[in-house]
Amino acid sequence: MAAAPALKHWRTTLERVEKFVSPLYFTDCNLRGRLFGASCPVAVLSSFLTPERLPYQEAVQRDFRPAQVGDSFGPTWWTCWFRVELTIPEAWVGQEVHLCWESDGEGLVWRDGEPVQGLTKEGEKTSYVLTDRLGERDPRRFKRFSCLSFPSSRDYSLTLYVEVACNGLLGAGKGSMIAAPDPEKMFQLSRAELAVFHRDVHMLLVDLELLLGIAKGLGKDNQRSFQALYTANQMVNVCDPAQPETFPVAQALASRFFGQHGGESQHTIHATGHCHIDTAWLWPFKETVRKCARSWVTALQLMERNPEFIFACSQAQQLEWVKSRYPGLYSRLQEFACRGQFVPVGGTWVEMDGNLPSGEAMVRQFLQGQNFFLQEFGKMCSEFWLPDTFGYSAQLPQIMHGCGIRRFLSQKLSWNLVNSFPHHTFFWEGLDGSRVLVHFPPGDSYGMQGSVEEVLKTVANNRDKGRANHSAFLFGFGDGGGGPTQTMLDRLKRLSNTDGLPRVQLSSPRQLFSALESDSEQLCTWVGELFLELHNGTYTTHAQIKKGNRECERILHDVELLSSLALARSAQFLYPAAQLQHLWRLLLLNQFHDVVTGSCIQMVAEEAMCHYEDIRSHGNTLLSAAAAALCAGEPGPEGLLIVNTLPWKRTEVMALPKPGGAHSLALVTVPSMGYAPVPPPTSLQPLLPQQPVFVVQETDGSVTLDNGIIRVKLDPTGRLTSLVLVASGREAIAEGAVGNQFVLFDDVPLYWDAWDVMDYHLETRKPVLGQAGTLAVGTEGGLRGSAWFLLQISPNSRLSQEVVLDVGCPYVRFHTEVHWHEAHKFLKVEFPARVRSSQATYEIQFGHLQRPTHYNTSWDWARFEVWAHRWMDLSEHGFGLALLNDCKYGASVRGSILSLSLLRAPKAPDATADTGRHEFTYALMPHKAPSPAPATSWSAFSVSSPAVLLETVKQAESSPQRRSLVLRLYEAHGSHVDCWLHLSLPVQEAILCDLLERPDPAGHLTLQDSRLKLTFSPFQVLSLLLVLQPPPH
Ligand SMILES: [Zn+2]
Repeated sequence: MAAAPALKHWRTTLERVEKFVSPLYFTDCNLRGRLFGASCPVAVLSSFLTPERLPYQEAVQRDFRPAQVGDSFGPTWWTCWFRVELTIPEAWVGQEVHLCWESDGEGLVWRDGEPVQGLTKEGEKTSYVLTDRLGERDPRRFKRFSCLSFPSSRDYSLTLYVEVACNGLLGAGKGSMIAAPDPEKMFQLSRAELAVFHRDVHMLLVDLELLLGIAKGLGKDNQRSFQALYTANQMVNVCDPAQPETFPVAQALASRFFGQHGGESQHTIHATGHCHIDTAWLWPFKETVRKCARSWVTALQLMERNPEFIFACSQAQQLEWVKSRYPGLYSRLQEFACRGQFVPVGGTWVEMDGNLPSGEAMVRQFLQGQNFFLQEFGKMCSEFWLPDTFGYSAQLPQIMHGCGIRRFLSQKLSWNLVNSFPHHTFFWEGLDGSRVLVHFPPGDSYGMQGSVEEVLKTVANNRDKGRANHSAFLFGFGDGGGGPTQTMLDRLKRLSNTDGLPRVQLSSPRQLFSALESDSEQLCTWVGELFLELHNGTYTTHAQIKKGNRECERILHDVELLSSLALARSAQFLYPAAQLQHLWRLLLLNQFHDVVTGSCIQMVAEEAMCHYEDIRSHGNTLLSAAAAALCAGEPGPEGLLIVNTLPWKRTEVMALPKPGGAHSLALVTVPSMGYAPVPPPTSLQPLLPQQPVFVVQETDGSVTLDNGIIRVKLDPTGRLTSLVLVASGREAIAEGAVGNQFVLFDDVPLYWDAWDVMDYHLETRKPVLGQAGTLAVGTEGGLRGSAWFLLQISPNSRLSQEVVLDVGCPYVRFHTEVHWHEAHKFLKVEFPARVRSSQATYEIQFGHLQRPTHYNTSWDWARFEVWAHRWMDLSEHGFGLALLNDCKYGASVRGSILSLSLLRAPKAPDATADTGRHEFTYALMPHKAPSPAPATSWSAFSVSSPAVLLETVKQAESSPQRRSLVLRLYEAHGSHVDCWLHLSLPVQEAILCDLLERPDPAGHLTLQDSRLKLTFSPFQVLSLLLVLQPPPH
């Protein structure tokens, strides 16, 4: 062979190699054109269509009709089952033979009644390996998945089934990925044939593509990139695609290059197979079940072929689905988990949203998840895994700690629109000071393909160079499932140790984090929430889902509390543990990061609403049963008892049912976590140490409500012109301004419609102006005073609101009903406060945090729309204004204006999102102290400090004789506190435990006169196991 010329033109050399591997150009003579050899059609192809997602056994009984390549099938969400009868030509003995299958939609191959592989064009899975070498029994143990055993050595016939779902990996959006699904979409089968596969050609293609990637990625300043390019060029010189005997020389050239190792200081990339499957998003929950099967069976097949391949899988719910729908596949998953190749991670029931779920709901994600992983896979997860959530609560580090986890993997902050997050590997310190080790894969993705470009990006993009020399690299198609391919694995294996590139090792998350931990001295610490500077519309979109979430969290809290008290009081009462687990799992499912956030299609939103309906109806039944058992034999004078499930004594005006469906108002007092009879009607009149509510309407139409605690003035259109804390005479509304001002914004994001509200929406603010004279007095005073008004928001949308003030109540409530028919508008309500502070306070899980009220830095103004739970507060020394809500999450405070986000109107992926009727309540409370403190009178349980809240009372998951309760308390003011917990239940033993209810060996508490001494640090969450005495007989 002639010596290569010394001079090579960079571009022509590069493009020469590109053409040699191109699937588009010169395939008649290039290497790519030789990937497949001889081919032949399948013997018989038949199919049937069904709108249902049938089990295999049922599907194969159906009537299959003749089908052919080119056939269309559909519409969207239907399923087409194909029967593929095939006979491999005997002439192909000794060859690797594939079933080549290309169709729209997501396919799953079934053989002998078991799923064996996914087939999805978008996921680069278009062939199923029928045999590695026709005619030879495969000696390897993985016969079932990758190599056929035929009936006889000469008969190469076989019947397979291919179940094709009529949806793509990412649903069926009309015209764009996140557009609402096109219900009429049709799908096509474009290829179904047998073909000989040339594995040697494939391996050469992998090598050449990697060399091209190195040449391009390292660029012309780098010596190694020229070595890569010239190696590739020389391979093209020596390789004749038509003569396979020339391939080994080319292979040897590649092996020489890739075998030149790097030095000791090389960065190490830990490549873990992954397949992010959104539990519901652009497709319904039920399709996710099949996505799991398609994706995971493909991963198993890769594990068999590549014993070093490790695959990380999160979300217990998805495993639970596969367990019940695909038991054969599930037991194989368990086998591979024992081998350490299938690695459950995350520890949660689903990958939940990191902002909106309550603290208790977050605990339950782990409680349900970790117990599932322990039971099914023999151990709990040691890494929390949440790559795709729209922000992370400052309480997550403490919750992780309490659930046996010290490591966290995510990457979503790489989506920040304004500020680039400064770390990829760091310690994260939560609200209470708990620290966890966090890693964001520096490639900023959980769906890598194994390309050189990504490998180089992982090193170059790492923000902790010099501090951390290990990175995660998650490869595999994700979001809609799919997962890794053999080609990705071939690439990564080739890059194990090559000079000029980082070292690549197929690794588990555990190995990655161990490496990071062992060299973590120089890592930096980030304190507080990990706020995502994008997707801030998800705090508001799909208001009904948000309302369902808040309401169902409350219902389950109440059922658990009353059932626990009933259990302690009654020997006959059975704690509804199984029903509660079922209902909790439904709630946790809806907290998935594309459901509670409202970023899902209409079909999913409807399913989510059904889940809430189940929780409401079953929850209320359980509530009645528990209340009945608790209060047995103690009816009030009218047969009514009032139960208080909050941990403080409440005196409030209630609407009590009267015969005939009417209601009457009564002032009732109920002790904390207890009950009281309805006071007899006669006692209603001299109710008052308190002043009754006075309601006065002026001639100009304005109305004043006054209960002696606060005085509220509404202008004739319903806006708040004054709110005075009567005792001090202090005005809460900013001078010259009005509160309860509805404002409408144009809300057109850049792309992610349901997700994003952009900073520029603030420039489009338009106050909704009411018509004078619409304000009318509702309830005329006494126990309750109210005024109501109507407001036309736009030609299509209107609002009615009743402003209510009760006797003895420190806040004014705004009961609101909206008929909302808008497109790309955002409705908020504003309260300009006569308060000056650079920080506002927002309730989060088990506590609260401050965020700035100014836009000093880019980090400040990027938080123009934030989230909060039940309240937000703006306080200066000695006075403040709190804004409370019953089902909202979006909020902001800019300057002195408190703003609550009410309704959005995005059109994708659900064109109907938020259209229709809404009901919600918010309340406004001026106060003297820096933050509102609950009263401290208790019954079943009481705590001596107002800083400590008793959040949860439930039966322990593992409860001998069903006589153990778990109590969860947290410090809510941000202070160090010693306090006494008074118990009036018959407790014989009390032990501190973690959030998974595992007792702390040193956590035995001494009961002193039915009291326990507890010590809290700021925002600390404590859980107690209480063993009750045997029941009374
Ligand atoms: Zn996701």
